[in-house]
Amino acid sequence: MKFKVDRSNLKRKGFKKINLPENIVTYSRNVFLPVTNVCRNDCKYCGFKRSVESTESYLMSESDARKILRDGAKAGCSEAMFALGEYPEENEIFRKKLAETGYETTVDYLCRLCEIAIEEALLPHTNAGILTYEELKKLKPYNASMGLMLETTAPVKRIKAHEFSPGKDPALRLSVLENAGKLKIPFTTGLLIGIGETKKDRIRSLKEIRRIHKKYGNIQEVILQNYTPQSTFSGCSGLKSPSKKEMIEVFKLAKKILPKNIQIQMPPNLIDINTLINMGVRDLGGVSPVTIDHINPESDWPEIASMEAELKSKNMILKERLPIYPEYVFKKMYGKKTESLIKELSDEYGYRSS
Ligand code: SF4
Repeated sequence: MKFKVDRSNLKRKGFKKINLPENIVTYSRNVFLPVTNVCRNDCKYCGFKRSVESTESYLMSESDARKILRDGAKAGCSEAMFALGEYPEENEIFRKKLAETGYETTVDYLCRLCEIAIEEALLPHTNAGILTYEELKKLKPYNASMGLMLETTAPVKRIKAHEFSPGKDPALRLSVLENAGKLKIPFTTGLLIGIGETKKDRIRSLKEIRRIHKKYGNIQEVILQNYTPQSTFSGCSGLKSPSKKEMIEVFKLAKKILPKNIQIQMPPNLIDINTLINMGVRDLGGVSPVTIDHINPESDWPEIASMEAELKSKNMILKERLPIYPEYVFKKMYGKKTESLIKELSDEYGYRSS
């Protein structure tokens, strides 16, 4: 894909840093691996979690993961997005299921799945909910980047949907961001909009992300995700999806508060591309030609070719990136086991090679 670039700033051996022109919109071509839908939390808006006793609960096997990864590699994907419920091993039945894999902890099993992803030439990006410093440290070598949605810094006692979710304590979530910063893990976080938080809460949340980024310099992107009801929701939350107008206001707030080197991302399966582009969004996040969005299963990804065509009609260009942003490729902040694959998959500017 040809585009004009500003090559005036920082250059490193082997990579050249560029500022993308305003008409470039980036995305990451990924596969989504929902490792387990068992979770210790019980968020009232969740359509993903299943009780461990339910016949619909699962723990993905190594062979199932490998099959998805192979399909992804064949479809030209570069990212393996591992997402799962939080600390499922707090449940005894799950612990037994996990033991059958030969691994004692979910994190150990995740390391193995990441290893398989790398073998299949995909770069892992893991989002496993709350993790300790030691757990993040264990996963780091196998990941190009990692993530955890902050969601909101509003206290749990005010966010009724989080009443039965110990992992949604904002202090705990911020501590994960801090620890990821200490470990220099390129990190994705974000806000979930429309779960009962106020404008003040959104501002505070964005300022907290900014504070952590200023301290550690590791937040690569912030997702602004609009709460979108799905018919499979486990509980009646009484929540209402935010309007496009509200999302535009949140985007403007984020633009004003966040440092320029944090990309603001909105998912194109939850808001139409036309609206996203007009409001100024320049990253669409992970889009999969192979798997569905398991968190929002009723919201289909747009076809990559149709996104490309729609952007072209607006004189814009869709550009593929890796799950790690170029700045962090230059800084070599990726996990050591992903290094040779990152070199293979990236171009001289740290984006996906064509
Ligand atoms: S939203 Fe995430 S943390 Fe909450 S219950 Fe669902 S899977 Fe668990």
